[in-house]
Parts: sequence; C-alpha cells; structure tokens
Amino acid sequence: MARLAAARLTPAARTRVSQILRITDTEAAVADGLAEASIWADHTKNGSQTAAWHYIDLALEDRKSDIGKRCENDNCAPARLRLFGAQLAAKTTAQSTQWSDLDALRFLVHLAGDIHQPLHAASNADQGGNCERLDPAVGQAKTLHTLWDGEIVNSMGESKRTLATDLDREIVSWSGKRQQALAAGNPDDWAWESHLLAVKFIYKQLRIPKQPVEFPVVCSAAPAEIIARTWRLPRGYVEAMQSVVRLQLEKAGLRLARLLNESL
Ligand SMILES: [Zn+2]
Repeated sequence: MARLAAARLTPAARTRVSQILRITDTEAAVADGLAEASIWADHTKNGSQTAAWHYIDLALEDRKSDIGKRCENDNCAPARLRLFGAQLAAKTTAQSTQWSDLDALRFLVHLAGDIHQPLHAASNADQGGNCERLDPAVGQAKTLHTLWDGEIVNSMGESKRTLATDLDREIVSWSGKRQQALAAGNPDDWAWESHLLAVKFIYKQLRIPKQPVEFPVVCSAAPAEIIARTWRLPRGYVEAMQSVVRLQLEKAGLRLARLLNESL
C-alpha cells in the first residue's frame, strides 16, 4: 500500500517525504522508506496511548452521521488522518502537538492502511472481530480480526513486494477516470465504505448475530452469542475475499498518494 502510494507522488511531495524520512529522493528509496515507516505506528501504540487512533468502532446499526459521536476527542482513525494531514500541510509543527512531522507522516501511512481494513471500522460488541475465535484457525489467524488484518493477504501466497507490483500493474491498467474516482473522498468516506464492507462481507455473510451497541474493553465482557462458541468459515470464503482485500489495498494506495500530494 505504501509502495503503491510512493509510485504516485508528485515530485514535490516525494522530495518532502525524502526530507522527512532523511533518505535519498528517488522513487525506489521513497517506496522502501514509506513501507518501512508504515510499521512504526503499531510499535508505538501501547506506550503512547494511541491504540484507538488505528480504528473507529462503528456499531452495525450506526449511520454515517454517527462517525462524530463514535470518535470522542478525535481518538479514531479518520480524525487522526485529517489532523496529521493538516499538520503536514501547515509545514510548521503546531505548538499544541507533541508529534513531529516524521511522526505525522508515519501515522498517515499506517492509518491510511488501517482504515481500509473493514474490521477497523466496524464493531458488533466484539472489538472489531477480535472476539470471534475461528475454529479451525486460518493460517496464523485465530480470530476474525486477524484473518482480515493480514491472513487473507498471506493466503494470496505472494511476497509484499510482488503483491505491490501486481496491484500497481492492475491500477495502471484502469482508465484515469476510474483511478481518480477511486482516489476520491475524505477519511470519513473511507471509514464508512470500510464499515459497509464489514457489514456485508463479514457480519451478514458469516451470519454473526447483531449485538447491542456496546464496546467491551475485553472479550470476556462481550455478549455470549459472540464468545460462547467458535466460528467456522464457509468453504471458499478466504479465496472469495481476496478480491475485496486487493481492491481495498489499491484504494488505500491511491488515496494515500492523494493525501500526501495535497498535504506536502
Ligand atoms: Zn494499526
């Protein structure tokens, strides 16, 4: 996803990225640099109390207009994408922020990916699918959340770099109009789109019963309908979801590029 974005930066944005990351201003170096920078936010989240910035808990019955209500004090992915984008666009570090431009860039790259993972924008009193245990497990994935966090990508059997090349080729084969249409929208739009994918392809398709609007902090406090059993995926489910995940990665790459081109 970071690599897809790197290939689509304007010369000015690419130069600024290379300055922030302190790397050479070439497409290859910036692609490697952004890919590496995308990991940092997951490493810092527990120590810096920023874990809530990686997702937005939207209940299954929520509407798009509920996004604000589910994002208190801007502690959610779409708000942080907006704020870190604004920080970089201002080209000066605001006094009020404890985050450097390097941090802001690393958050942007990471959160742009997270917000396109459907279970980072939906919760059915189940911590975004973390409380549904899969039996049998799928590869390394023992829960629904981890299945969508990486195991569907793993099931494609390609290295990250080969996958990026593949997806890039696919994007290039689309018309400019389609590419532009997919790059459009703002972080709230992207979160809502992810939410709708989760409702359709996860909660409805797997027939997970709808739960009350609750956001348990631990799975042991989740409703019995979610945790008192395990979940078995229907045959062919993972393969069928690969195309959904691929398109989400492609959109994330196009949109991150737009965000960076507009901010930097
Ligand atoms: Zn994350």
